[in-house]
Amino acid sequence: MPLEEKIETIYQQVRARNPGEDEFHQAVKEVLESLGPVLVKYPEFAEKRVIELVCEPERQIIFRVPWQDDRNEIHINRGFRVEFNSAMGPYKGGLRFHPSVYLGIIKFLGFEQLFKNALTGMPIGGGKGGADFDPKGRSDGEIMRFCQSFMIELYRHLGEHTDVPAGDVGVGGREIGYLFGQYKRITNRYESGVLTGKGLGWGGSLVRKEATGYGAVYFLREMLAVRKGTLEGKTCVVSGSGNVAIYTIEKLQQLGARVVACSDSDGVIVHEKGIDLALVKRLKEIERRRIADYGSLHRDARYIAGGNIWDIPCHVAMPSATQNELNGKDAGRLLANGCIAVAEGANMPCTPEAVRLFLDAGIAFGPGKAANAGGVATSALEMQQNASRDSWTFEYTERRLDDIMTRIHAATFETAEEFGAAGNYVVGANIAGFLKVARAMVAHGLV
Ligand code: GLU
Repeated sequence: MPLEEKIETIYQQVRARNPGEDEFHQAVKEVLESLGPVLVKYPEFAEKRVIELVCEPERQIIFRVPWQDDRNEIHINRGFRVEFNSAMGPYKGGLRFHPSVYLGIIKFLGFEQLFKNALTGMPIGGGKGGADFDPKGRSDGEIMRFCQSFMIELYRHLGEHTDVPAGDVGVGGREIGYLFGQYKRITNRYESGVLTGKGLGWGGSLVRKEATGYGAVYFLREMLAVRKGTLEGKTCVVSGSGNVAIYTIEKLQQLGARVVACSDSDGVIVHEKGIDLALVKRLKEIERRRIADYGSLHRDARYIAGGNIWDIPCHVAMPSATQNELNGKDAGRLLANGCIAVAEGANMPCTPEAVRLFLDAGIAFGPGKAANAGGVATSALEMQQNASRDSWTFEYTERRLDDIMTRIHAATFETAEEFGAAGNYVVGANIAGFLKVARAMVAHGLV
């Protein structure tokens, strides 16, 4: 069977086995499209059906999460943990609490995570989990009770050498605290390395909170350096205003860029003088308010209810909110407005059409698998500190993160060149990540 046909057949099999899971199909398709030259160079991977194996999660867990709200009303949510692949280390990846969560979202995230984690060079496999729970507007007590109910089922699947969750959309330091407390109570073990993103006073790592955003900017810095550019004086637009967006803005500002817009799911803030990050942090990290309130607190900022952030002209766009938030039309507009670089802080935020347009235009495009790997890489550094009962300084940890991102950039850049796709970080990241996982899987035999 010719190679292209073989890959298409594998893709069609994945679709048939996982009906209705559009995001998972999208993530698989993007990786498979890069793998042709790998099978030519390493026919062993085709003989051993490594691609088919890697597309099938090792284990998928779906469970009921019942809980009571503050008015004693009963709610029933659905919890998930997809343990995708443990060839490189214990399953590792975040938990997402969002009403859009279903198996297809968790599988796409787990699939991406697996290759991302391999790219970090740290000993971690891939997994992802979450629930279709909507934390918006819920009290602290409700969040705690939900986390406790979620963990009473999940705990049996976890362990510092087995499966190590962390945060993702809707799961931050507060939720990790409640989840850890419940795990500790059920198991009667202070097993620090079972979760990452912990509080600094009880096993967390400095820089973990900042890591995804900082890492994405380091990756961007490296992409610009290849083109003899820097961030100094660049106008940037960062979608979202959650953990990734906040620390992306912080590092962009530290490196001399001007961030003129951010957003949440209700609307966009445009502030030509530069986003006031202290205010965003206060609104989002402490008061848990909407970004619209930024507009009423800053006279010279503009709030566009229901606006599209990709309408704002910029040199650099960093989609840092959620999957498929930037489509082909948006990409066309960004390019027409003079955008020269895009780095994905979120997981799969650009649609396939948008990615194609960016690559065809020859601008610097950093796919999430590589560009947002700093978060999980620093989770692995947190696990390392937990294992040695140590805690490192901010400076040392940040240097480690910077080194890891610089190495991921070099590896993806060089792999793209080696496989005849110079400058294409999508191909570079997919192949470099796949090769690491595939080699480990072959070494472990048919398991
Ligand atoms: N949720 C993050 C990601 O998408 C981090 C996962 C982790 O730290 O385990 O990579």
